[in-house]
Amino acid sequence: MYEYTSSKSLFERAQQSIPGGVNSPVRAFKSVGGTPLFIEKAEGAYLYDADGNRYVDYIASWGPMILGHAYRPVIEAIKKQAEKSTSFGAPTALEVEMAELIRSMTPNIDQVRMVNSGTEACMSAIRLARGYTGKNKFIKFEGCYHGHADMFLVKAGSGVATFGIQEVPGVTKGASQDTLVAPYNDLEAVKQLVADHKNEIAAIIIEPVAGNMGCVLPEKGFLEGLRKVCTQENMVLILDEVMTGFRLAKGGAQEKLKIDADLVTYGKVIGAGLPVGAFAGRREIMQHISPVGNVYQAGTLSGNPLAMSAGMALLKELNAHPEHYSELEAKTTYLRTGLEKVLAGMGIDHKINHLGSMITVFFSKAPVTDFASAAAACGETFKKFFHGLLKRGVYLPPSAFESWFLNNALTYDDLDFTINAAAETCREILN
Ligand SMILES: *Cc1c(COP(=O)(O)O)cnc(C)c1O
Repeated sequence: MYEYTSSKSLFERAQQSIPGGVNSPVRAFKSVGGTPLFIEKAEGAYLYDADGNRYVDYIASWGPMILGHAYRPVIEAIKKQAEKSTSFGAPTALEVEMAELIRSMTPNIDQVRMVNSGTEACMSAIRLARGYTGKNKFIKFEGCYHGHADMFLVKAGSGVATFGIQEVPGVTKGASQDTLVAPYNDLEAVKQLVADHKNEIAAIIIEPVAGNMGCVLPEKGFLEGLRKVCTQENMVLILDEVMTGFRLAKGGAQEKLKIDADLVTYGKVIGAGLPVGAFAGRREIMQHISPVGNVYQAGTLSGNPLAMSAGMALLKELNAHPEHYSELEAKTTYLRTGLEKVLAGMGIDHKINHLGSMITVFFSKAPVTDFASAAAACGETFKKFFHGLLKRGVYLPPSAFESWFLNNALTYDDLDFTINAAAETCREILN
């Protein structure tokens, strides 16, 4: 039986000095109950908490650790760069190399602007789309998360969905009135919004594979339909690849699903665990960003040399060895097959959604294709499943509305360990 003494006392202390004891809400375990684990260190596929317990990690820092924790080339790159100072506030060769590397790995990208988070990338992309088209409104999808900028906190996924927050205090009507929302996978609803707001919509922003309501896949023709509508109506198609970028393929969802974006946003993998984001796209649009154009966008630490070094070390490895993606896909399929066998064998209602190394188990009888069907899955079973796995040394995202992320340091023994832990947990749930 695991001991959580240190995590418990740290959480007590944390709540005194940090709101809710955490610096990002989902970490608090509020929706699953119990004490969040305070992590001491991580290596490869394993996390070690403050009590010295080891966990097989399926969060990967919410995505970035695609090749496992403390990946040597990344650590070495950070150490080497840190010796030269941590920031200059002036251009560096590293930023040029990073932009060139991103362009070489991904389709439809002429220019890249680095920022410090996925939130910043998405809010900048919307501003750019508005500035470029001269229109104000944009369409997003229920259950998708694009960071915590005011205009995105309407029917948002991730923590907003996890905590069931209907309306976020502090977000003004002014900030949210230009946000139009459609159900995921509902092309007709999008067409209706476009017809109702003729020549008012600047952009459609979407997670090409949703991960913030759990993993939800785009149905056949859906993204293609959005592409067509955007082209016809002079709207900018923004693929939010903060999760999927460099994870589903080196060219992200654009490559994996053969869908062309006008603008793309990145985060997570692109920074290898340092605070990084980027937005990128066609030259014609990107040229509206300052200092070339007047769409203002800036950042004291944007393109930070430590972050560029870390991100580049990871992206170079992924670029040089695309077999990481087929290995990850094979491991995820193996996990899925194992879990499906366990759940089906015990007669527990479930639907597993997966693409590449993103996967979610929904305790649902019906297929999960949008936020409504994700929200209809059984939250109580998820809680039990989560805690059953946790106490057996497997660390899942502490919310039913999140994708799990596999990393390529996971071995097949780790996957078997996980499947066995799931089997024991399910037996416990049924008793
Ligand atoms: C995580 C995430 C964001 C926000 O990124 P932060 O770095 O947390 O600000 C935006 N979009 C998607 C799809 C994400 O998964």
